Amino acid sequence: RTVYLNGEYVAENEAKVSIFDRGFLMADGVYEVTSVLDGKLVDFEGHAVRLDRSLSELGMKNPITKDELLAVHRELVTRNDVVDGGVYLQITRGAPADRDFAFPDPETTPCTVVLFTQSKPGVTESPASKTGIKVISIADERWGRRDIKTVQLLYPSMGKMMAKAAGCDDAWMVEDGFVTEGTSNNAYIVKGNKIITRALSNDILHGITRAAVLRFAQEAQMEVEERNFTIDEAKEADEAFITSATMFVNGVVEIDGAQIGDGVPGHVSKRLREIYLDESRKVAI
Ligand code: PLP
Repeated sequence: RTVYLNGEYVAENEAKVSIFDRGFLMADGVYEVTSVLDGKLVDFEGHAVRLDRSLSELGMKNPITKDELLAVHRELVTRNDVVDGGVYLQITRGAPADRDFAFPDPETTPCTVVLFTQSKPGVTESPASKTGIKVISIADERWGRRDIKTVQLLYPSMGKMMAKAAGCDDAWMVEDGFVTEGTSNNAYIVKGNKIITRALSNDILHGITRAAVLRFAQEAQMEVEERNFTIDEAKEADEAFITSATMFVNGVVEIDGAQIGDGVPGHVSKRLREIYLDESRKVAI
């Protein structure tokens, strides 16, 4: 694979970053994952806007323009022959001369910019999309700025492992009695024809797929309610599903061992998945 590191295209085994990089020492950095369908980027604009917001919330300046970033995404997709999959992008606060809690001077310590591709042939027809996924609920023990897409992913990784240990696919995190989101996706339930999902705040990541799916839902005259819901309410719902750039829209068929609906992805989530994939393919660049 060819990857991108600080302005250069290099073979992945030749891409080297300093041990003093604050991304490595302190998880001081942000990332984005943009999905690729038919060799084209889905919602590049949305990811670029969220990247800028994440960086500015952490007092970092984006070292690369949106046009350059788009060019790098496209170049990597072409060089690595990605048809379906994604592009991972990470910007960390760089490698100062020594380890220190205080942020280094950005003039002397440039950010580290890394991009690489991940090929996932047939991702739109994944087994999980047919069967739906099973989730467990766990306490949300992440920090309080989940709206910033930082590379600090240890707790979500632990959540994923707790889910695996329970024979499930993912974990929905719960805070003050209400579901926040999945380890790497936004969470939804459906009651009747109403789609219910937590409102945006610092408690959750502002999903790019979430924004698109809610827009498509409203365009298709489906009712959307942005409010908190509990695990108990979710267990009683007609359907449950998740959204993310890597899973698109995917049904949830079990929560803490309780079957949701008929135990297969429901009509609403299946329809939203279809609309999302169709519309995303049309506007991908
Ligand atoms: N919530 C969390 C915690 C995530 O990590 C992600 C994606 O990585 C999402 C939600 C979904 O966001 P998006 O639709 O932009 O991929």
